[in-house]
Amino acid sequence: MKALAYTSLILILFWSCTSASKSTRSKPLIVATTSILADGIQELVGDQAEVVALMPAGVDPHLYKASVRDLDLLTQADLVVYHGLYLEGKMTEIFEKLAKQQVLIDVSKGIQEDQLLRSGPESHSVDPHVWFDILLWSSGLRYASQELQRWKPSWATTLQRNTEAYLAQLHDLDQKTKSKVAQLVEQKQVLVTAHDAFAYFGKAYGLPVYSLQGLSTLSEPGLRDLTELITIIQTYQVKAIFAEQTISPKALQAVARGAAEKNLVVNLAGPLYTDSLDAPNTPAGTYIGMFETNLQLIYSQLLP
Ligand SMILES: [Zn+2]
Repeated sequence: MKALAYTSLILILFWSCTSASKSTRSKPLIVATTSILADGIQELVGDQAEVVALMPAGVDPHLYKASVRDLDLLTQADLVVYHGLYLEGKMTEIFEKLAKQQVLIDVSKGIQEDQLLRSGPESHSVDPHVWFDILLWSSGLRYASQELQRWKPSWATTLQRNTEAYLAQLHDLDQKTKSKVAQLVEQKQVLVTAHDAFAYFGKAYGLPVYSLQGLSTLSEPGLRDLTELITIIQTYQVKAIFAEQTISPKALQAVARGAAEKNLVVNLAGPLYTDSLDAPNTPAGTYIGMFETNLQLIYSQLLP
């Protein structure tokens, strides 16, 4: 409640102080909340716009709170693109306010309701990690492309061409992922990670997935979760468990120690890139690069 009041105060102060002046830029400015989203949008728009990620690489979007500087950037943007599905859990109020004065695209609107995974009936219990099913992510980007065309009709031809070219690359990535993961499934492997980011991946590619924390990183894992995960490691003779770049490895280190006490040999590998890309111009600095880097790490750790 305190956090909400604080956010409201910042918002009130901010919106009452800013002038609507937008600096003179040669290209429109698009601000996307996450680095994964910014990469996809940049692929669609090409060099027609400057695309900026609000959250830097390595930042956990579930916990992210916008700073005054971020609010400034969001207000200066010509267009704001966000993921939706409560991924940006602490920014809902900001999006509602922004919608009154800005053009916003909620990319998750491009994904059919019946394709979404849920942990319960409440609206915030929907799993936001749709980018781990490449075809679902493609649907989100196709929707974003249509919305971008509606926003800038003069870009339509370029947007359509870029979208088809990029989605063809994603189709290839999907095929490649299917065949690699099929080998893991054949060897009866399972994927154990820090938080529940891989449910769509598991469903799309047939790999059983387990994690220590739930859909959001807001909740702390308890002793029961730790014990359950050690039982899973024992049952499936798991060779490696995977830390994530946006999450402290401390809890998984406890799992590895617990497993060692039971004479189980399990490697704490990683990090996997789950909710953020790596820094720009690194192998995992793009969505496709992130996917390939993760796949290679999982594959090399789990296959005998
Ligand atoms: Zn997550």
